[in-house]
Amino acid sequence: MIPFIDLEKQQDRIINNINNAIADVLAHKQFILGKEVQELERQLQEFCRVEHCISCANGTDALTLALMAAGFKAGDGVLIPSFGFVATAEAPAQLGIVPVFVDVDERSYNIEPSSLKNAMVYAKKNSLNIKGIIAVDLFGNVARYDAIQDIANEENLIVIADGAQSFGASYNHKKVGTLADYTTTSFFPAKPFGCYGDGGAVFTNDREKAALLTSLRFHGKGVGKYDNVRIGLNSRLDTLQAAILIEKLTIFEDEIDKRQKVAEFYHSAFQNNRKIKLPQIQENCLNVWAQYTIQIENRNEVMSKLYEKGIPSMVYYDKPLHMQEGYKHYPRGDDLSICEKLTKKVLSIPMHPYLDQKTQEYIAEQVLVCTR
Ligand SMILES: *Cc1c(COP(=O)(O)O)cnc(C)c1O
Repeated sequence: MIPFIDLEKQQDRIINNINNAIADVLAHKQFILGKEVQELERQLQEFCRVEHCISCANGTDALTLALMAAGFKAGDGVLIPSFGFVATAEAPAQLGIVPVFVDVDERSYNIEPSSLKNAMVYAKKNSLNIKGIIAVDLFGNVARYDAIQDIANEENLIVIADGAQSFGASYNHKKVGTLADYTTTSFFPAKPFGCYGDGGAVFTNDREKAALLTSLRFHGKGVGKYDNVRIGLNSRLDTLQAAILIEKLTIFEDEIDKRQKVAEFYHSAFQNNRKIKLPQIQENCLNVWAQYTIQIENRNEVMSKLYEKGIPSMVYYDKPLHMQEGYKHYPRGDDLSICEKLTKKVLSIPMHPYLDQKTQEYIAEQVLVCTR
């Protein structure tokens, strides 16, 4: 079976440096907030040209921390695309914040700006106090932050970018991390920039909020560790994970390049097939291709045929958030038919930086045969 994501080839490439980095941490034993954590934060700030990076325990906590720092309170509403991963709705729900679902665009898979407008009309009619938007850069493709920011300005909303799948991507030459008031990411192993366990980070250009985030991730600490000035979380990035990420960062830009080449190959192979809808390539954007997700009609049949040929494929996501048992009671700010339609048609095929040319050709050929 061809691996869906190949973490082994990446590891082979940098294993010696990773082993040395781990050995350094074992030697100094500062397992929590050791020097590698600060060093990684500094390097990530430089990487996305943002003022502040505050690392934390995972991408879900990163969202929780951003919502807390931004001043969201229980009962406030937040607009969220319904096509995506549950964490985007879970973080606000845990804080008593009301996720209000909006629809996505069929080609980009991201928030449809006109749906945000419809949801604001709905919210006003229903006395929901919408305080912000969590835009998700699904599958590594950046959302339309220009249009989203216009609406946020008009309605006085805070914008949080959920960049769990898009770290390294950019929009009009601005990197993910700088495109919203707060950007969150995840270092879960399968994300484009993943560690060897759980990890996450929040990015902001606001110095006061950065200080607040640093306090919040460490039990709401004040000046001293045992001085607790607010209710916070225990959400720090392990020193070991930071040390591993520092090594992975050295090859990350090259990996993004390699992902582009795979995506370009898939595009050229599929573009003349009328049965396959391709993921959108947006102008002036760099997509990090966390997933390469096509749309087809006979998905189940194609999946099992591909499987027989040794090609794994995955459905991200087969249920919209507004239809999930745990979330179906939350308000729908708009008609969500695109989200529902996508969940029946999307199929993600193998995508990672180490797919060699022959394997890419084999996958493309078999996808074309199976969709015929
Ligand atoms: C993975 C993911 C998260 C959560 O990240 P964790 O590190 O697993 O907590 C949040 N949002 C999106 C869009 C994700 O893909």
